[in-house]
Amino acid sequence: MKYAVISDIHSNLEALSEVIADIDRVGVDAILCLGDIVGYGANPNECLTIVRERAQHVVAGNHDYAAVSLTPTGTFNPYAHAATLWTQRVLGSAEADYIRRLPLTIAVDDMRLAHATPLEPEEWRYILHPSEAAGELLRIEASLCFIGHSHLPGVFERTGDHSRLRPFGPLVLDGPGRYLVNVGSVGQPRDGNSAAAYSVYDAQQRVVELRRVPYDIATAQAKILRAGLPRVLADRLERGE
Ligand code: ZN
Repeated sequence: MKYAVISDIHSNLEALSEVIADIDRVGVDAILCLGDIVGYGANPNECLTIVRERAQHVVAGNHDYAAVSLTPTGTFNPYAHAATLWTQRVLGSAEADYIRRLPLTIAVDDMRLAHATPLEPEEWRYILHPSEAAGELLRIEASLCFIGHSHLPGVFERTGDHSRLRPFGPLVLDGPGRYLVNVGSVGQPRDGNSAAAYSVYDAQQRVVELRRVPYDIATAQAKILRAGLPRVLADRLERGE
């Protein structure tokens, strides 16, 4: 089985459309989505429609749950909060119902999927350092987890008592270790690269690959401004931050 794993789309239709086109070029057996389909960008309903049609397995992110008031927004910065209120206003009722039905974590084959931490996904904690990944990898039953949330792609590996963050290859996950893979962000990359990010995982070969896809940033920015969303949400897209 070959999987495309997408996350943190954030209502960016231009980025999602290019990523789906790239996925179709690569050719995969299933698409997995790790949440934050909405929030920040100008096309929440359109992005939800595409995810619903194309992804076989989907978990919710904090911005998705915030859009239907299933999680508090007290920790959101003012821009995220403004985008949440805007999303709540424009979200269709069928799209809102779809979000409400999404789980926070699921197992797919021998993989565990979550937006934030696999063990306590409802806490929305970030995993940024190997020490933070270590506890998860020690206690989780799956030897391979896919996460999003930080918008920073990377592969955390735990072998014995040792944990490290490995740069994305293509990387062969064939050691005795346990792996936690952050697949990066489709619609709001924050690693200094403005191109959309997602991952392809080949389960037979045990190879995980990070893919980068350029997209029409100017159109996504213009829509954000036209919608009356904060300008910073448009500006950051071209800087990849
Ligand atoms: Zn996000």
